[in-house]
Amino acid sequence: MIKAALFDMDGVIYDSMPNQSKAWHDTMTLYGVECQPEDFYMYEGRTGFKTINILFNQSFGRDATEEEKKEIYDKKCARFLELEKTKPMPGILEVLTKVKELGITPVLVTGSGQFSLLDRLNADFPGFFKKELMVTAYDVKIGKPHPEPYLMGLKKAGVEASEAIVIENAPLGVESGKAAGIYTIAVNTGPLPDKVLLESGADCVYHTMFELLEDLERLIQI
Ligand code: MG
Repeated sequence: MIKAALFDMDGVIYDSMPNQSKAWHDTMTLYGVECQPEDFYMYEGRTGFKTINILFNQSFGRDATEEEKKEIYDKKCARFLELEKTKPMPGILEVLTKVKELGITPVLVTGSGQFSLLDRLNADFPGFFKKELMVTAYDVKIGKPHPEPYLMGLKKAGVEASEAIVIENAPLGVESGKAAGIYTIAVNTGPLPDKVLLESGADCVYHTMFELLEDLERLIQI
């Protein structure tokens, strides 16, 4: 019996990944890090600080300092705000509405600390995400692909892994959901091939929220 649906945010609730990857790329290149916007689809899911550290190690062979991580992450968030306003993922409102109709509690589990999106959740999806049922970059120590964020989501919802489903778009997010022992649905809303999500352990892959919506009732019988 499925009691909770754990939703990732970027690339699932919001169609934010094109702007996120651009904001990351624009910011990191300012610091002399060589990267492409597409690279960030593979890093997606990690906390910002972890992403910065990985890129620093690749480019400069050292960890970023705490000050650098904070400064760069703040700049990334500011750059994201300058870009065209991010819209909700087409079909996500219908999915959330169906989830509620089926008596399932929606829970947010994101590695993001982008206040501009977190603050919009209530306005864009009134009554869907309770504050006490959100896991963000500010709650976790390790972050995806570790199971920590999804385990925390289960705990906040007061359900077992077998009573939940995860909805993810990113390989590292899928890994995190599976490592937490949860049935993990990938909705491939970005440029990566499905194969990458399946290799990360996704139990099934859809391509739009509307495709998922059609199958949702059947999926929760699993
Ligand atoms: Mg995502």
